[in-house]
Amino acid sequence: MYDRILSGIMGLCIGDAVGVPVEFKNRKLLKNDPVTDMRSYGTHSQPKGTWSDDTTMTLCLADSIGDIGTIDLKDIMDRFVLWVEKGEYTAYDEVFDIGVATRNAIFRYLDGSSPINCGGKNEYDNGNGSLMRILPLAFYIYKKYGNDFFKNEWAVKEIHNVSSLTHNHPRSKISCGIYISVAVSLISNKSIDNIQNAINNAFEWYENNGHFSDELVHFKRLHDLESFKNLSEDNISSSGYTVHTLEASLWCLMNSNSYEEAVLKAVNLGDDTDTTGAVTGGLAGILYGYDTFPKDWVESIPKSQWIKNICVKFNNSIMYV
Ligand SMILES: [Mg+2]
Repeated sequence: MYDRILSGIMGLCIGDAVGVPVEFKNRKLLKNDPVTDMRSYGTHSQPKGTWSDDTTMTLCLADSIGDIGTIDLKDIMDRFVLWVEKGEYTAYDEVFDIGVATRNAIFRYLDGSSPINCGGKNEYDNGNGSLMRILPLAFYIYKKYGNDFFKNEWAVKEIHNVSSLTHNHPRSKISCGIYISVAVSLISNKSIDNIQNAINNAFEWYENNGHFSDELVHFKRLHDLESFKNLSEDNISSSGYTVHTLEASLWCLMNSNSYEEAVLKAVNLGDDTDTTGAVTGGLAGILYGYDTFPKDWVESIPKSQWIKNICVKFNNSIMYV
């Protein structure tokens, strides 16, 4: 299991770092100057390999489960606070990016709201801020509930609760549920053949559960993954909207043959490049494995030994859940 955890979390971190220097650059601009390797500086003036909030919040979740052995919503929020207030869990002890919905949620927490009520509940609160940090939960869910976790009400609730810390609208929760389902299928057998099945399991649950069913229309393009895969790039958006990020990551994964190709494809879609890179990189990392990542990319990541230590602790802690 450790190899898949390392591949997923490092895959996400590196995808994030490839995207950071060109965040907010649009697709047309990147067509003229495509990203082909890990760059330095750019949008946030950060050295090569610098990862951002996506990785920070992913590490907060993995470290929390690693220390506690279960999902403790308050503890996860406390770690988000350490990040925002003290720069902990960052590449260079500095906070240089944070999403609006996430910041608002952390402020609500500091004002005394319970963790479960911190995330925004409005339709415009559906940025990709919970999707970008949810990946560690896939390993935990897989270990605790297995492949068929959608059959277990509590498993789905755990995913939704972790999303709701910052993103509490049903659409954000569905986005996380579908992503976790795909990640779990990749963890259980490293193949894209079962992704449609994983998505179908998610659809089946959401169709039959109250206020979620009305939201499924926003994910309808994933109903037929083969047609979705064959859409041209012009039909794939890469904004900070959670549905766009989920779609873009699956489209890049399905249309690539290596980790490197998937991440570069994601980043070159433009706009929210670091998060599209991170969300794609997490899945592609599990699928292709850490050993296939470009060596230079791996070596450019700051605090990589510390990240590996978090992965080791996380792996040990979910061994017996
Ligand atoms: Mg970011």
